[in-house]
Amino acid sequence: KAGDKDVDVEEVLFFPDDLETSPRHPRIPLPGALFGGRLNSNGVEWGNEAELDALAQAMYDAPDAPKVKPFAAKDVDAAMTRAAKAAPAWRDLPVATRAAALRRGADLLEEERPALMATLAREAGKTIDDGIAEIREAVDFLRYYADEAEGLCPPRDLPGPTGELNRWQARGRGVFVTVAPWNFPLAIFLGQTAAALSVGNAVVAKPAPQTPRIAAQAVALLHRAGVPEDALILAPGGVEIGRALMEHDVLAGVAFTGSTATAKAINRALADRDGPIVPLIAETGGVNAMIVDATALPEQVTRDVVASAFRSAGQRCSACRILYIQEDVADRMLEMIQGAAATLTLGDGMDLATDVGPIIDQDALDRLHAHIAKHKPRWQGKAPAGLFLPPTIIELGKDEVLKEEVFGPILHVKRWKAGQIDKVLDEIASTGFGLTFGLHSRIDATIAHVTAQATAGNVYVNRNQIGAIVGSQPFGGHGKSGTGPKAGGPLYLSRFVEEVVISTDT
Ligand code: GLU
Repeated sequence: KAGDKDVDVEEVLFFPDDLETSPRHPRIPLPGALFGGRLNSNGVEWGNEAELDALAQAMYDAPDAPKVKPFAAKDVDAAMTRAAKAAPAWRDLPVATRAAALRRGADLLEEERPALMATLAREAGKTIDDGIAEIREAVDFLRYYADEAEGLCPPRDLPGPTGELNRWQARGRGVFVTVAPWNFPLAIFLGQTAAALSVGNAVVAKPAPQTPRIAAQAVALLHRAGVPEDALILAPGGVEIGRALMEHDVLAGVAFTGSTATAKAINRALADRDGPIVPLIAETGGVNAMIVDATALPEQVTRDVVASAFRSAGQRCSACRILYIQEDVADRMLEMIQGAAATLTLGDGMDLATDVGPIIDQDALDRLHAHIAKHKPRWQGKAPAGLFLPPTIIELGKDEVLKEEVFGPILHVKRWKAGQIDKVLDEIASTGFGLTFGLHSRIDATIAHVTAQATAGNVYVNRNQIGAIVGSQPFGGHGKSGTGPKAGGPLYLSRFVEEVVISTDT
């Protein structure tokens, strides 16, 4: 029943203390282990309370990160001009030198973990486990793009007639502007930036206005690791700074993560520029669905739905927003999900007991309250006073379709009748988004059919639908969810380069 505690759900959901026997983490060399020597960005890295206590203590002791002064409009031109001057020398370095700087950056991230976690918690409300996972992901991005750039950048000789030498090369385009979101203010900020740097672009990096301090720490760390100060410049500020960056003459490419509306606005601004056509890589939101049929294992569904919908207070673009449950099992499943969600502890990110942290700011909280006010929640958990929203479940009527991303710990639910799974798939596709998608079923034919029809970029079967792992689950969607290529995947760097082929008659 709701609130029952037969199982220690928190242990299972967020703190799997024995990762070797956790069904999600069989003992195989996960990418985190390959890239970082430890665990991955989805799993939690420790299994040892003493280690965790020491880490938490070091985090509490870390001083506040210094304030970051936002850019004034005139700073944009100075930054872009400096970056443009630095770009050719950075591009012309051997790729191994750039890759070495990124790998040193990854090592420094691991060394500086307590201070970074402190800023993630204080500035972005990250819980300790989310902070650890975020640093893990940032480390993975740096090492992954260092490796990928070393594969992509060395010149290659291509076939041609006798007496002709054809040399193909991919190289940096010039100055890339990266625009990062507040919900992964370290991992996504550094992922975009490291990708652009790895292949030889200079970068002017704009963090979200809510999270400049962690970005400043990350930039300082890459400078210490060997990225020249002029090849990576932080451009803190809001919309006006973003707009001025998009208009600047030297701009050669943009990597953006945020809302679909902002991605479209950037696209329009880029289209209106004089001069070169500037490419945009956009990773945006989703109305991510999970389908559960009557054969699914209830305990597993419970664990995976609660993690997908409520971890990080639902402030992930991958989060499960709508759950389609086969009606025959819906009541039982919902009771279990509510019971599990009721055990989540909401609180300050710095507190070890916290499972779910705060909402990023008052505006975001107001928008979530306004959404809830339009419906009658089926169930709501409890939240302390402050910037918190209790986990909430809203059951939608037969004809109601969730069309917009609701960026918080709100799970929508709909029931479907046996034999109608294609209708559910059509409804999901009708939103036009296609980021993540989940399926819980034990029937092979259903799994094959649904995964083939699913319109999302990241499809997860019989597991949660968040926490894509760099190099294993390249992340990014289709349609209104983004342009591709997928972050942490083998094609990502291809959009950050220009190609040249030199054909010589020998
Ligand atoms: N990559 C993250 C995940 O798989 C989500 C990124 C985002 O929220 O922007 O959970």
